[in-house]
Amino acid sequence: MSSDLSSLNSNFIGGDWRAAHSGATDAVVNPATGAVIGEVPASDAADVDAAVSAASAAFPAWAALTPRERSEILHRVADIVDENIDELSRIECENVGKPVGIVEFEMDLTKDNWRFFASSCRFLEGKAAGEYMAGYTSMIRRDPLGVVASITPWNYPLNMATWKLGPALAAGNTVILKPSELTPYSVLRLAELTADVLPAGVFNVICGQGAVAGAALSEHPDIAMISITGSVGAGKAVARAASDSLKRVHLELGGKAPVIVFDDADIAAVVENLKGMSFYNSGQDCTAPCRVIAGSKIHDDFVNQLTDAVASINVGDPMSDATEMGPVISDVHRSRVAGYVDRAREAGAEVTVGGSMGSGPGYFYEPTVVVGPGQSSEIVQREVFGPVVTVQTAADEETALAMANDVDYGLAASVWTADVGRAMRMSKALQFGAVWVNDHIPIVSEMPHGGFKQSGYGKDMSMYAVEAYTEVKHVMIKH
Ligand code: NAD
Repeated sequence: MSSDLSSLNSNFIGGDWRAAHSGATDAVVNPATGAVIGEVPASDAADVDAAVSAASAAFPAWAALTPRERSEILHRVADIVDENIDELSRIECENVGKPVGIVEFEMDLTKDNWRFFASSCRFLEGKAAGEYMAGYTSMIRRDPLGVVASITPWNYPLNMATWKLGPALAAGNTVILKPSELTPYSVLRLAELTADVLPAGVFNVICGQGAVAGAALSEHPDIAMISITGSVGAGKAVARAASDSLKRVHLELGGKAPVIVFDDADIAAVVENLKGMSFYNSGQDCTAPCRVIAGSKIHDDFVNQLTDAVASINVGDPMSDATEMGPVISDVHRSRVAGYVDRAREAGAEVTVGGSMGSGPGYFYEPTVVVGPGQSSEIVQREVFGPVVTVQTAADEETALAMANDVDYGLAASVWTADVGRAMRMSKALQFGAVWVNDHIPIVSEMPHGGFKQSGYGKDMSMYAVEAYTEVKHVMIKH
């Protein structure tokens, strides 16, 4: 089944579907075939102005709703996501190249995220009201900020939009969301599906390029906060552009997750996890386990087992149930991935499986394992964001820790060991926003997701995310 996505060809502003002011459009491509599947507006500052007007107009009434009223509306959005999850999944598969057979993992999370955020409006907390000075009562309010702009990436278009929309709307803000120019469809369809549930102007969608529409959002003086999930470079550009108006900035950026496998680890469990999670979404995941640091005693055995497991991954048509891995998002991105692997090989690392582009149409790249790159090499230091795992070795805990922390990123890490004390020491010392012990990837709505270092600041999911979209106000009453 191919969804008819070409009819989703407009921005959604103030409850209306509108072409870009300039009339310009961007083509959207199916990465599994290279075929154009539609055109969406290439918005600019004029379209952003219109969206800011609509979101500003909608803000007072949305902010004035009681938590219960907002919660009931957001639960209705959650119902709609539930009821339409098959169609929304299909859209992601066609627009991102996700295999239909394994996409349920993230769609189930998306449904649960909506439920969590819909309930969260009712659970915001502050310090107890009280008399902190004789004759005065102090209280804390958590007020919404106003108009929030959110910019999302192409790897999990609907899920990342959920992480932005859910907490911002729950806290009483109105939102302008700019999806990636490569993958706008699931968010446009969400806007269409929820148009009768969310009041006009509460949720607006602006399509367009980061450097144009994204920059206009970052600079706009009437936007109170900008939240972006994307690359480190895009995050820095947003933070720079936002500094003039000193709007609040929330950055969920890239990752380079270490997987520290000690000699006492359950090797079969690590291999099974990596076969699934390093190659889920073709490795285009900011937390993907992509950088193994293996104990010296198990290194060779581990490499053999991982190589065999990765060689067995079924790559192909995302619309086939048997497919475990589809294409990467674009030809440009595939060349970027290939460049990292080619240069690592030239520098002396061994490619034990994969290492080549797929044949035929579509942007396929083989699941790849690169063994023995140096710690300072770019394939260890930079985010490849493709189906590529590196394997290095460390003889002891101290060396493994130093290697794991020796990158600019700090989003996620895992430690694999049977020794509880070592697991505790490593969890404390790893400079990453999430640390798993004897697993890698599982996430839940109640727990925060966010980075250290150049992986950004601010948390997605959990009540920390909802709080991030509020302003804390102290009210002091003399009596
Ligand atoms: P990207 O940075 O190219 O684009 C992300 C979004 O930012 C897009 O909507 C894009 O249009 C916009 N953008 C780009 N330049 C901009 C600018 N100058 N001003 C404003 N907006 C701009 O990222 P991508 O390639 O779409 O996604 C992959 C990246 O996202 C990876 O680095 C990945 O690690 C990161 N990511 C992070 C998380 C997380 O939770 N930390 C989750 C998913 C993806």
